[in-house]
Amino acid sequence: MPPRIYYDADADTGLLLDKTITFIGFGNQGSAQAENIRDSGVTNDRIIIANRDDRYAVEAKSKGFNVEPDFSKAASLADIIFLLIPDQAQPRLFNEIIVPVLRKNATIVVASGYNVFFGLLKVPPSNNVVMVAPRMIGSSVRSLYQKGRGFPCFVSTEQDGTGDAHAIALAISKAIGATKAGAIESSVREETAMDLFAEQALWPNIIALFREGFSVLKDAGCSDEALCYEMWMSKEPAEIFEAAADDGFVQQLKRHSVVSQYGQLSGALALDGTGIREHFRNILHNQILNGKFCEKFSQIEGELELEGAANPLNQLYSRSEEMELVKAEARVRERLAQLRRDAAEGSQ
Ligand code: NDP
Repeated sequence: MPPRIYYDADADTGLLLDKTITFIGFGNQGSAQAENIRDSGVTNDRIIIANRDDRYAVEAKSKGFNVEPDFSKAASLADIIFLLIPDQAQPRLFNEIIVPVLRKNATIVVASGYNVFFGLLKVPPSNNVVMVAPRMIGSSVRSLYQKGRGFPCFVSTEQDGTGDAHAIALAISKAIGATKAGAIESSVREETAMDLFAEQALWPNIIALFREGFSVLKDAGCSDEALCYEMWMSKEPAEIFEAAADDGFVQQLKRHSVVSQYGQLSGALALDGTGIREHFRNILHNQILNGKFCEKFSQIEGELELEGAANPLNQLYSRSEEMELVKAEARVRERLAQLRRDAAEGSQ
């Protein structure tokens, strides 16, 4: 059965008007969603932005919001709590600071399924847990709302402590602007599976395909400049994906030359996907859904705040610099910068 898609008429933002709403975090999503909710009629005196006293707090104040640096106090007042800080920072803050002061019937809102799916948030049974997950970066969540257009979003009710969690989830979806475009019924399992699959299966393969393709063409005598522009610096791949969203994944091919269409379709259809499908299944079931990645990531996440080579992410970046594609791109960007410097000197 196809999932239900909720539109404005399915939701009642009136449910939010007598609630105190606390945003934990005022970053990409926090700032956009708080502004949208306020513009949807929730009065400013009912919105609290919980943030350390830093640049995010300054920004929230400059937009007229009430900022509370004491997370415990901000959470204790809330009927609805948006958890909009980075996923890896959520469990500690939520479990240690928010849970002890949580109102009995408060609703917890997440914008990503990860921490709920892997059971990292210790939510008491009397509370609601809902996911309202925009498929859009924060700046677009705000600008599309302002244009009255809405944006794609996943919505789900994961724990219904009060009996009206679903209605609250839909009210939130409408207030942030999502039901204007249609909020798709989903689940934290589905959202997490797709998100982590894209990150751990699809895109690593795409990066590897570009890496290997680059090396083969380089060995065949193609120049760094030609390759970088041909493969990504022209932004052609971005245009292809935009056309795929507009015309259809395969139908966008009709915008290409006949030689290109024939080459792409005959090549793709001739490839045997059995091996890659098995590889993908293995990642999905034996790395993502069984919690292995989550467990491993939880062990190293503290190290991600370290400076320099002790940080495992920095180590991966260092290793990626050994890729021929990355070295070539650095050479190209340096040569282009030099050309710009020469041109600027010449024009003086
Ligand atoms: P951001 O990285 O923009 O979050 C920054 C905010 O989090 C700031 O207010 C920052 O304040 C605060 N913050 C960071 N670390 C901590 C901490 N340890 N304790 C308290 N506050 C902290 O997050 P996003 O908006 O990108 O992501 C929020 C949620 O939305 C995540 O669940 C993410 O998966 C989801 N999401 C994000 C999308 C996006 O566009 N990026 C798209 C869809 C969903 P300070 O530095 O002052 O502490």
